[in-house]
Amino acid sequence: MTIRPNSLEARDIAYHLHPYTNAAKHQTEGPLVLTGGEGVYVTDASGQRYIEGLAGLFSAALGFSEHRLAEAAYRQMKTMPFYHAFGHKATEPGIALAERLIAMAPVPMSKVFFANSGSEANDTAVKLIWYYNNALGRPQKKKIISRLRGYHGVTVASGSLTGLPYAHRDFDLPLPGILHTLCPHYRRHAEPGESEEAFATRCADELEALILREGPETVAAFFAEPVMVSGGVVVPPKTYFEKIQAVLKKYDVLLVADEVICGFARTGNMFGTETYGLKPDMITLAKQLSASYLPISALMISETIYAAIVAESEKIGTFGHGYTYSGHPVAAAVALEALRIYEEDGILDHVRAVAPRFQAHVARLGNHPLVSEARGVGLVAGLELSPDKTTAFDPSLLVASQAARFAQNHGVITRGMNDTLSLCPPLIISEAEIDELMQRIERALDDTRDWARNAGLM
Ligand code: PMP
Repeated sequence: MTIRPNSLEARDIAYHLHPYTNAAKHQTEGPLVLTGGEGVYVTDASGQRYIEGLAGLFSAALGFSEHRLAEAAYRQMKTMPFYHAFGHKATEPGIALAERLIAMAPVPMSKVFFANSGSEANDTAVKLIWYYNNALGRPQKKKIISRLRGYHGVTVASGSLTGLPYAHRDFDLPLPGILHTLCPHYRRHAEPGESEEAFATRCADELEALILREGPETVAAFFAEPVMVSGGVVVPPKTYFEKIQAVLKKYDVLLVADEVICGFARTGNMFGTETYGLKPDMITLAKQLSASYLPISALMISETIYAAIVAESEKIGTFGHGYTYSGHPVAAAVALEALRIYEEDGILDHVRAVAPRFQAHVARLGNHPLVSEARGVGLVAGLELSPDKTTAFDPSLLVASQAARFAQNHGVITRGMNDTLSLCPPLIISEAEIDELMQRIERALDDTRDWARNAGLM
């Protein structure tokens, strides 16, 4: 791409350090500047329209033109644009949103703590786990286990929980005391002839062995996404969570369900916790909580954890954690409006109605010569790319990112994660738009196959 002097692209290159972007490449490639959106489509600065195949970052549930959210923000801005929640202060939207989330919670929950991002919600969960065990007088019970390929954010603690090398490499992470166990990707990690159930048993056995090796008295909590989306859409094998939870219970290890992507209908139930039978002690939420129109995240905690915090406050005073923008009234008002729209427009029924068509396309694309596995549930899916349906491409070739570039040429924005092309459209997507999305993805797969053949990769 030629970059004109003083264009938006040139100014971006000059001044902007991008998250999760190859900084060296960015200097010559520059950004794709998005200027507008309508429904599931977004438009770039040159007027080109794309289907947002990833709902932004797995997050813009209501697409890009839901004016009710803009109006909710404007109304709140005019009445009480900002107030914090420190030192016993509150605003009406923060109260109403906490009340609503507790009413919606998939398992009984007691209180909601607000933050601004998924990373902050997970960091808060880590701090509360430590605080809780100090309050209970067992200061040695502090280690936390998550899974390889899991994604929980990028702050110092949540980035440690994330089980992906690029979140650790050169950042001196993970922190000591944050450990990783096997990724439950059946097709990749199962032994020959091992059934899904037997593989799930082995995952639980590995977790148990890790807890025993570390000493159960030192292990405090286990973090898991119901479906590992950012790490390549890993859907848990049958009986996985049942067996994992039996181990956690045996050693008194808390379960944190990271519902940052799965929350709010993505997997075909309001929460992934319901889809996979989780019984978490804490739940983190973000992204679709506000349909991403403003940053807000939430951590829900059980009554047991809340009671320990109250008891500790009686001993040591103020609970010393909080963000200036915890429960920001404008963000909370937008989130409340998003939840109202989900309910009034029957978003869950819509997802259940269109997901079979989406997953039928995904299964069909599983037969493409370039695709070794098509995985998914509800309105999220991953297409794993392989030269011969069995072996993997050299990871340094970034073949899935190449496929995402071809998809962009065909008018779809999506991302490659390692060897997997991800699809996670806005929840409002219609059946006709699903057909269009999948036709474009199929063309991108054809292009990627031709490119890989020409390069002698398959
Ligand atoms: N948890 C999960 C499951 C996520 O997918 C993400 C973001 N992709 C995060 C946490 C971190 O959220 P944020 O980027 O808002 O910090």
